[in-house]
Amino acid sequence: MSLPVETPPGKRNTTSLRLVLALLLMQLPCLSEAMAAEKMRLQLRWLPQFQFAGYYMALEKGFYAQAGLEVEIHPGGPGKPNPIDLLLEGDTDFAIANSGLIIARMQGKPLVALAAIMQSSPVAWIVRADSDIYTPQDLAGKRAMLMPAPESAELLITLAREGVDRDQLQLQQTSFNPQDLIDGKTDAYDGYISNEPFWLQQQKVPYRLINPREYGVNFYNDVLTTREALLQQSPAQVEAFIQASLRGWQYALDNLDESVQLVHQRYAPDKSLEHLRFEAEQLKKLIMPELVQLGHMNPGRWQAIAQSYLDLGMAEGPIELDGFIYKHKVATDNSLLYQVLGGALLVLLLVGAVALRFARLTQKLRLEVRRRQQAEQELRDSNLQLERLANTDRLTGQWSRLKIEELAHNEIKRAERYGFPLALVFLDIDRFKSVNDQYGHDVGDCVLTGVAQRIRSHLRDSDSLSRWGGEEFIILMPHTDLDQAYLIAEKLRGLLAAEPLTGSIGVTGSFGVAQWQPGQGLGELVHCADLMLYRAKQLGRNRVERFSSGDTLPLV
Ligand code: GH3
Ligand code: MG
Ligand code: MG
Repeated sequence: MSLPVETPPGKRNTTSLRLVLALLLMQLPCLSEAMAAEKMRLQLRWLPQFQFAGYYMALEKGFYAQAGLEVEIHPGGPGKPNPIDLLLEGDTDFAIANSGLIIARMQGKPLVALAAIMQSSPVAWIVRADSDIYTPQDLAGKRAMLMPAPESAELLITLAREGVDRDQLQLQQTSFNPQDLIDGKTDAYDGYISNEPFWLQQQKVPYRLINPREYGVNFYNDVLTTREALLQQSPAQVEAFIQASLRGWQYALDNLDESVQLVHQRYAPDKSLEHLRFEAEQLKKLIMPELVQLGHMNPGRWQAIAQSYLDLGMAEGPIELDGFIYKHKVATDNSLLYQVLGGALLVLLLVGAVALRFARLTQKLRLEVRRRQQAEQELRDSNLQLERLANTDRLTGQWSRLKIEELAHNEIKRAERYGFPLALVFLDIDRFKSVNDQYGHDVGDCVLTGVAQRIRSHLRDSDSLSRWGGEEFIILMPHTDLDQAYLIAEKLRGLLAAEPLTGSIGVTGSFGVAQWQPGQGLGELVHCADLMLYRAKQLGRNRVERFSSGDTLPLV
């Protein structure tokens, strides 16, 4: 069987990853608000070392906190339970596993692979440089240490690929002690290329590697894993955890020295800085950040890994990858969409707010205009009222003295300009004092009003009646000469004398009539009429006297 060689996604992914990370970073504050510090546990598969630097950096640099997560990192190591068992029992939320993870999945365990950090396994056989072992074939007949399954899978599949039967080797259970290689207790020590070779260098023991990678065996290692139930329950938190962890890894690999120092100070003080630096450099080769997108997993590769386990008899059952490989949410596209939608919503809200403000202002303005129109109307009404009060006599409702003077001045001007005749009649109620004395002032008022109404009702529309004062009235008669005015006054006198007024009270009136003469003012005209009135009184009242050209004006 041959394993498919995966084509690395290449450099183009680095740019898109940066974009994804940048957009995610923009989203993180919102995300963290939505999730109020969710507690998450991560179980490592070995003692603290650079192997877990990405998670330590995510914690130390606050990437988890920014994603709204409160993360606890638990180290593994000799004597510690298997991280996968802890995960399945619910004692941790995330675990770091090797490719053997898929064996458990094939057994029906609800595990999900979230991200593969190492694109190749660091497991290798380490042999002394002074041995005659150069290839897997050279191991035939030799003592070789092996970790228990499935950790040993990469080495066994390398043997199988190279046509070496495992029974040809004297397989030993691993001692986890590379000193055994120096002491000659084994010919091939199984270790991590990132770990034991450094120790051998320190001991000045030259060595060689039988490295599965060189024989086309590429197993994923350090796979971030969770259980299905957690993913279904809290998909956003799982996605946030993955993204924050990958951000931690990106930081660790971009800042190797700083990360080595930090891992040494805070987590692995027993491992020297040189050792950690060696580990970091070796692991970086397996992570291949400049070639492969961090955490990348390929279904074809998982298929081949599962097939290898089946071939080695380490696994059973059909290979079913559905639901095993985590599918990232296209958070970046959505975030962009949300930002655009958010922006549009903001613009709508602003436009709405401005429109609302305008509507309120318009309404205010409309109310103000209406208020002013009302005020103006009230002012006009009160002016009219004032005018009416000034122009009208309160008791009789006829023109006031003020108004008849204005009217008379205008008529005199017209008579002057056009030569129209203009007459004026002065009326005084006879012995009115006795009406008051006899019936009281209120009845006197009624009689005054009655006289005014009776006279008005028999005048022409062009004539004007006004109360001059007390029980005296003046009638202005445009387009009327002396004789015509005399006749009208006579008619009025007759009307008054004919029938009694209110409450059978009868009154008479005396009338003085005058015609305007060119050059006369109103005062003179009134004076002429008054003279004639006086004459009517003198001659016995209830009479009409007219001013003729022979009459003199003694008072003027
Ligand atoms: P004569 O025929 O000479 O005009 O006699 P007379 O009584 O009408 O004249 P006189 O000037 O002596 O009296 C006028 C009276 O008119 C006096 C006053 O009490 C009365 N009078 C004036 N104005 C009013 C008014 O508004 N109401 C009432 N009830 N009486 C008024
Ligand atoms: Mg009088
Ligand atoms: Mg009188």
